[in-house]
Amino acid sequence: MEELVSLCKRRGFIFQGSEIYGGLQGFYDYGPLGVELKNNIKAAWWRSNVYERDDMEGLDSSIIMHRLVLRHSGHEATFSDPMVDNKKNNKRYRLDHLVKDQKADVVARVAAEMGADPANFPAVVAALNASPARASEALKAAGVRDPFSGEVGDWTEPKPFNMMFKTTIGPVADEDSYGYLRPETAQGIFTNFKNVVDSTSRRLPFGIAQIGKAFRNEITPRNFIFRVRELEQMEIEFFCTPGTDEDWHQHWLDKRLAWWEAQGVPREKIEILDVPAEDLAHYSKRTYDLMYDYPTLGHEEIEGIANRSDYDLGSHTKAQAELGLVASVTENNDSIAKLTIPHPETNKPVVPFVIEPSAGVDRALLAVLSEAFTRETLENGSERIVLKLRPHLAPIKVAVIPLARNREEITAVARAIKAELQGLGLGRVLYEDSGNIGKAYRRHDEVGTPYCVTVDFDTVGKGEDPSLTDTVTIRDRDTLAQERVKISELSGWIREKLR
Ligand code: ATP
Repeated sequence: MEELVSLCKRRGFIFQGSEIYGGLQGFYDYGPLGVELKNNIKAAWWRSNVYERDDMEGLDSSIIMHRLVLRHSGHEATFSDPMVDNKKNNKRYRLDHLVKDQKADVVARVAAEMGADPANFPAVVAALNASPARASEALKAAGVRDPFSGEVGDWTEPKPFNMMFKTTIGPVADEDSYGYLRPETAQGIFTNFKNVVDSTSRRLPFGIAQIGKAFRNEITPRNFIFRVRELEQMEIEFFCTPGTDEDWHQHWLDKRLAWWEAQGVPREKIEILDVPAEDLAHYSKRTYDLMYDYPTLGHEEIEGIANRSDYDLGSHTKAQAELGLVASVTENNDSIAKLTIPHPETNKPVVPFVIEPSAGVDRALLAVLSEAFTRETLENGSERIVLKLRPHLAPIKVAVIPLARNREEITAVARAIKAELQGLGLGRVLYEDSGNIGKAYRRHDEVGTPYCVTVDFDTVGKGEDPSLTDTVTIRDRDTLAQERVKISELSGWIREKLR
């Protein structure tokens, strides 16, 4: 992981946010190559989930939302993580992270103090949450250390901490003039359900897909871009008739695993966690968490696929009492819309069930990079770092390299090839004359460019072999094979390989 983080900075994938002022924890900026990789991941997701299906619509809803949206969604009351403070230095930690970071014998002592099974970590955290006063004593008695100072801390009782960012809207900051930065993109989909149905005449089943930023004031952002405060999500809310929800849940589990595989994140590196009933959010009928085996971190959630029953639309609809909702929702006297759709068989209005596959873009990017990162020893004994990214994800598709940067006949051909290949619309094609050819190849291996095209003296008829006139060399990132191809056939060759 450390090597990957250093490559990300060195080659311009990811930088610390606000770095020149000392950095801002939990915020990252995507550099010249990072933005390309991120866009390619999002495009692959959109292609697979919107363009290649006929039962999906897209959406781009606003980031700042009415406080009532986040009240009725349940986020005001429950979108919180338990935190504890160390009274010795006023540092604040997320309770589960704090305990997880302790040595095994300390965790075992905490478990013993709380009467919980030390092998069942969620049970230990649940026990701490259930009795805050005892928890404070248990953390002290077990000798839980402060990760910052390394010393045993003087711990407060765990308290819930709401993770939403609040902001003032308009010039007057009074009691009611605030809104929230959305903590997930999903709520914009639910609040637009009626708009999308009315404007597209959709019938069940169908879905709405959205990619966008979400904001969570994480107590302990960490592990590079794995846990950040400004994140991006790729979310689908798939609406279906109650009773068909379990089949659709399975459908989305299969689809999403296949998609990860196509991005170079293999099936065997993802564990499916069928979240135990006692750990489910109250609205969830069943949830599969996809746990990717991140280097250093181990299995951590990359995507959640939840069956959310009729909770969301049921929470945001008016006239809740007459709709026979299955989920238990809090009363809503604010909404002005009835969020129903005709049942496909009976035509009676029904509040659909929702299957929600929700993936993080940043966590996807980290997984894709982790899988692609390769250190290889070549036949001649030298080492190279190469990013074996799937070509559709590579930030630069082709680098066009003139062998001599101040020979007009060579650079003119190289520039013409760059323009032609760029016109194929496959993504970024780079004209690259920044150094010697060996260095250029090494750099492009490190950033995952699948092909380097070299224009040399033979290309322009000034080499030793006249039969090579109007041909270029293509170097393959993975095999290192070099092939001579006619310029007239180059576009077709590249298009075929990068399809
Ligand atoms: P965790 O348990 O790791 O905090 P979560 O269960 O809160 O995650 P969800 O609310 O299910 O996450 O969000 C859906 C997806 O959004 C996650 O699977 C993850 O990919 C991404 N995500 C959530 N929180 C963050 C974060 N702080 N930084 C980066 N990605 C995140």
